[in-house]
Amino acid sequence: MALIVQKYGGTSVGSPEKIAAVAERVKRFVDQGDQVVVVVSAMSGETNRLIALAQGITESPSPREMDVLLSTGEQVTIALLAMSLQKIGCDARSYTGSQVAIVTDSAHMKARISRIDEQKMRADLDAGKVVIVAGFQGVDEQGNITTLGRGGSDTTGVALAAALQADECQIYTDVDGVYTTDPRVVPSAKRLERITFEEMLEMASLGSKVLQIRSVEFAGKYNVPLRVLSSFQEGPGTLISLEEDSSMEQPIVAGIAFNRDEAKLTLLGVPDLPGVASRILGPISAANVEVDMIVQNVAQDQTTDFTFTVHRNEYKKTLNILQQVCDDLGAREVRGDDGIAKVSLVGVGMRSHAGVASKMFDALAAESINIQMISTSEIKISVVVSEKYLELAVRALHTAFGLDAKAE
Ligand code: ASP
Ligand code: MG
Repeated sequence: MALIVQKYGGTSVGSPEKIAAVAERVKRFVDQGDQVVVVVSAMSGETNRLIALAQGITESPSPREMDVLLSTGEQVTIALLAMSLQKIGCDARSYTGSQVAIVTDSAHMKARISRIDEQKMRADLDAGKVVIVAGFQGVDEQGNITTLGRGGSDTTGVALAAALQADECQIYTDVDGVYTTDPRVVPSAKRLERITFEEMLEMASLGSKVLQIRSVEFAGKYNVPLRVLSSFQEGPGTLISLEEDSSMEQPIVAGIAFNRDEAKLTLLGVPDLPGVASRILGPISAANVEVDMIVQNVAQDQTTDFTFTVHRNEYKKTLNILQQVCDDLGAREVRGDDGIAKVSLVGVGMRSHAGVASKMFDALAAESINIQMISTSEIKISVVVSEKYLELAVRALHTAFGLDAKAE
């Protein structure tokens, strides 16, 4: 007998038929003797529909009222799922976040969970009931409804699993696991049996959008084993946990992440003096622009070149700020490029393997792909290349690091 938290996303509960299918799946676990807590999202498209309704009234709705509105989506699905379970003879009770209580701070639309009262859930589980909890929502100390930010139901699932010390948190979605890279770019990408929290964080933050990043951080912090699986087909999915894969030869690279969301900016001919980096990046962070990669060259002729990347949405704004900085510092010139892409190898196995970077650069060179920037960490190597070579780069690296699935 195990205590399992299962989270079903919007597409998994997108229609009454799909909700009935979720009920059947939950019942199979119950029949097997497991205790099950189910967290659900709103039906697919519902949260967007609610946002559009609000925008039809005002461009700047109050965040408190937005939370009152958005939390209704999940309230619909918990009730429908409870009814579906009861209909097939499975005792179930639904709770909103506030009924549980999932207590959060008061930061509407991006609230953080501060504590969870697990008494009611435990009593229901011990009485043989399935507990169904609305994802994405909580309540602050004053009793106001809050929400956790888009995709927040994943975090609800993990937080409940942590509070109940569940054996596993299963995230049911429309893909059957985490892949070595995006299968739309590399058709031979394969599902990973397991991956560590650390690796998943790198994969997620670099654009593999299977799970809300915060939920993975949470799972890592409380060591909650997370499993990503499909609600539409049977299979083991991908287990995300603390342990590395010890069952076989540890692969050096777990996966390849990439994104097209960044733009590159360069300040040429910056005087080589203490404090210039801070004078360049200060105004940019003051404008709330997040900087990702940073490269500063060794100085020549008392000047240096300074290059960094920002989100592409912030490109124009940053370019304007940098022009001002250029004048203030007496630097030579500003250059920018928003046609770039970032490709990263991710894997805890890199820690113990030398030569990963040179193998990466060899593979890119063999395809005549020019590397514009490089950054490394213990478990990741990222390069910036021209956007038009992104897919070629990912495919070449996928093959070079032996990640291609064997043809059946
Ligand atoms: N319904 C919310 C959203 O669409 C929360 C979630 O699905 O996780 O963002
Ligand atoms: Mg979601």
